[in-house]
Amino acid sequence: MIDLRSDTVTKPDERMREAAHDAEVGDDVYREDPTVNELEARAAEIVSKEAALYVPTGTMGNQIAVRTHTDHGQEVLAECESHVVKWELGGMAQLSGLQVRTIDGDERGVVTPEQVREGYVSEDLHRPGTGLLTLENTHNSKGGAAIEAEKIDDTAEAARERNVPVHLDGARVFNAAAALNVSAERLVANVDSVMFCLSKGLGAPVGSMLAGSEAFIERARRVRKLFGGGMRQAGVIAAPGLLALENRHRLSEDQENAERLAAGLNEIEKLEVREPETNITLVDCSGTDYTAKEFLEECESEGVLGVAFGEYVVRFCTHWDVDEAEIEEAIGAVERVL
Ligand SMILES: *Cc1c(COP(=O)(O)O)cnc(C)c1O
Repeated sequence: MIDLRSDTVTKPDERMREAAHDAEVGDDVYREDPTVNELEARAAEIVSKEAALYVPTGTMGNQIAVRTHTDHGQEVLAECESHVVKWELGGMAQLSGLQVRTIDGDERGVVTPEQVREGYVSEDLHRPGTGLLTLENTHNSKGGAAIEAEKIDDTAEAARERNVPVHLDGARVFNAAAALNVSAERLVANVDSVMFCLSKGLGAPVGSMLAGSEAFIERARRVRKLFGGGMRQAGVIAAPGLLALENRHRLSEDQENAERLAAGLNEIEKLEVREPETNITLVDCSGTDYTAKEFLEECESEGVLGVAFGEYVVRFCTHWDVDEAEIEEAIGAVERVL
């Protein structure tokens, strides 16, 4: 089976398993796990923030960030198709008592400074005030769009001018960096906090990082405990995470494979495939006789897995555990389906 459902399906390699086995550990709630401490220091350094916090999942990282930046009852500005709005069970409302004011970004999920200015509400007798702006890069629902540093800067600046902090959901920020040929550090230079996943294209079995100022991370550490994310001898899972950080240099391979896949699928008459910006390929199957769900069932019987991203849109995601030959095989399989 060629599994293109997500870049989360990667399995830890031998080196990661050995690192887990050999990890020096302690109780991380007491901040005594040397491996977690090293991972947090290294992660902060890579994105050039003062501090970082190891969290079990990207979702928890985002929700901790949101809670830490805001006061109960405030509004949060977020792109309407963004992960925090669409795929986190309404966590901002459920966990932090926040109201989301969505912004309809462009076809790549870019939010403009004007939209931030329009969406902003100042606190008064009738209105709760805007407590946070969240951005996403790459933008998952918009096909892994890699949003340029200047665009992030300009949008963040509009929030900053109104004293609204900015959190970046950078689950795949290193994919964006590879695509744009800039450092992740540059991409997040003008946001207050960033979350990125170790468990996606970087290949770690579990874990994400939340980075920001020293003071922000101190407060976030308490929220992590509140949300049940204070882990003990977490060095066992942090050790593969340290190796995963160094995998950020190989993400361009995933992008090349996505481009290869898109080019191959585009040759098939009934499919419409947008040129991928990173490792995500969105396929429009409305020209076939199938809905996305039916199309995926057919693909599965030919040995290829993907996920439905709409009634007629399918997402294929490339990653560490699929190589060029398997991409060619996947194209052949879809050809057989149609
Ligand atoms: C995967 C993802 C997350 C959440 O990560 P989990 O570890 O699955 O909770 C958050 N944001 C984006 C954009 C993602 O793609």
